[in-house]
Amino acid sequence: MTLDLTGSVEELALQLIDIESVSGDERAIADAVELALGSVRHVDVLRDGDAIVARTNLGRPERVAIVGHLDTVPVRDNVPGRLDDGVLWGRGAVDMKAGVAVLLSLAAEVAEPSRDITWIFYDHEEVDASLNGLGRLARNHPDVLDVNFAVLGEPTSAGIEGGCNGTLRVEATVPGIAAHSARAWKGTNAIHGAAPILAALAGFRPETVTVDELAYREGLNAVRISGGIANNMIPAECIVTLNYRYAPDKTLGQALAVVTRLLESAAVDGLVVAVTDHGEACRPGLDAPIARSFVDAVAATGAAAPSAKLGWTDVARFGSLGIPAVNYGPGDAELAHADDERVPVQQITMVREGLGAWLHA
Ligand SMILES: [Zn+2]
Repeated sequence: MTLDLTGSVEELALQLIDIESVSGDERAIADAVELALGSVRHVDVLRDGDAIVARTNLGRPERVAIVGHLDTVPVRDNVPGRLDDGVLWGRGAVDMKAGVAVLLSLAAEVAEPSRDITWIFYDHEEVDASLNGLGRLARNHPDVLDVNFAVLGEPTSAGIEGGCNGTLRVEATVPGIAAHSARAWKGTNAIHGAAPILAALAGFRPETVTVDELAYREGLNAVRISGGIANNMIPAECIVTLNYRYAPDKTLGQALAVVTRLLESAAVDGLVVAVTDHGEACRPGLDAPIARSFVDAVAATGAAAPSAKLGWTDVARFGSLGIPAVNYGPGDAELAHADDERVPVQQITMVREGLGAWLHA
């Protein structure tokens, strides 16, 4: 299929929906994107697996990455898509082929941007992080992510959602001494030993932290607890899993220090603490001049004021490199992955207008 990058953006989005691209099956859409960008004279195109990168090389002092993923969650009778009364329907309408359509159409149009642009279209976003195409690009072509600012076209209802909270998972293992429950005094109950940790967590007052003008609400919670191997045994071990969603004013080390302080306050003898999972936070960077102009251009479209992204997204891949990043795209994120995924065409044109005005400025 030949994509028409110069026609209407909603027709382009419909064309993209009609190329099925469930994660792991992005070859056809990547071929179409590579072919279409190959005929755009003002970009240099690079392909890595099913990720396509198109860069302007005008020697501008600043460079921005504008990024979208090509894959979707599985199709559920919602391909082919349709345009009906100003609404685009179909798998990926929200997450995120309308966004990708905006990016492709601007990649073709904006030949003389005020900042150099690295357009990135990648595979495997909706599946395990180890397969993520943006992560693979960062490993195989680190220069691709060497930018001053990044915009991800994920659905935000055409407003800016800056940065993202980090997430840290920790297992706290409380030791005990096993015994038959008929002679409980011979043992030490590890589940009871976890009580001070739960009390400390219940008493913890999470902060709302303002970072670069956006408010990030934190949370520190027990998300799982396990202990005991039989109904007549004093448990020798109890594991409490904690999840800390922390604001982007903190590094991973600082976030871990918060959790460690809380666990120390519980004063549990012999407690063993292990980090099992983490995803870095990302600053929105909206105080930087490069972002200021972006915020202004988007405000001119009538969009809501920027807000903080609380969930973890691929912006964090930029955050971990110290690059500020925001989400900005058409579609209501709550409809992402829904069988009746749909997006008003008006939001698609709004985002095209906001992004386009910024890149031309
Ligand atoms: Zn997405």
